[in-house]
Amino acid sequence: MPARILVVEDNPANLELMRYLLEASGYALAIATDGEGALEAALRQRPDLVICDIHLPDIDGFEVLRRLRALPGLASIAVVAVTALAMVGDRDRILAAGFTQYVSKPIEPESFVQQVESLLPAGLRARVHAAAGPSSPDTAG
Ligand code: MN
Repeated sequence: MPARILVVEDNPANLELMRYLLEASGYALAIATDGEGALEAALRQRPDLVICDIHLPDIDGFEVLRRLRALPGLASIAVVAVTALAMVGDRDRILAAGFTQYVSKPIEPESFVQQVESLLPAGLRARVHAAAGPSSPDTAG
């Protein structure tokens, strides 16, 4: 069964793009447009993965991450940061804060879903990626 993904984004155009790409790929979405809404949605909808903008109208993505991971059952949930920050070091700062992965804006439609999907257990992926190459059984050694 495909994953339920919580998308936290206050920019309508980015939100619509991510929503379109993920829903078209078969994922069930929960949506929040600010940090407090994200925490409520996470508790209510129990997503398998969270995609979170860093710059939000209330608390920032770093604070969302801290509070998310403190919620019951969500201590190890995968959280992908999405941000236009492009300065050297920001990626390290984001990963050091505990985000699972980092996706930079503008969203690349060709690779976005694959980037997100690579963080999901195989059983929660909506599609099999031919581009990922054959997954031949490892019989060596
Ligand atoms: Mn934003």
